[in-house]
Amino acid sequence: MYEKERSIIKTKLKQELLKVNAYISDVESYTAITAPESPLGIILSKQKESDIQLQRTYARKRKIMNFLDRVVDDVQSFLCTNCGAIIDLERLFLMPKASLCETCASSK
Ligand SMILES: [Zn+2]
Repeated sequence: MYEKERSIIKTKLKQELLKVNAYISDVESYTAITAPESPLGIILSKQKESDIQLQRTYARKRKIMNFLDRVVDDVQSFLCTNCGAIIDLERLFLMPKASLCETCASSK
């Protein structure tokens, strides 16, 4: 049961994971390349900026990993309890306990 939904959700999560990993290696190579020849102030502000982005990205990555675990045993927690549609991942990232899809939630 729910094999189709499970594989759709897994595919989406894996795509997100690829994006997140690409971003992380991007920022890491970027800070490594620009840091040596930049004036200190610029290094620090860029570092700070990318640190915040990196922290957010790491948090997102943790959520994706969590969801990848969760989808194995509990695919139903990704489905709208009202209409059965797959709940949008961005919605679940913001509200991991959401049980309604966007459409059902906004028509309540
Ligand atoms: Zn729904």
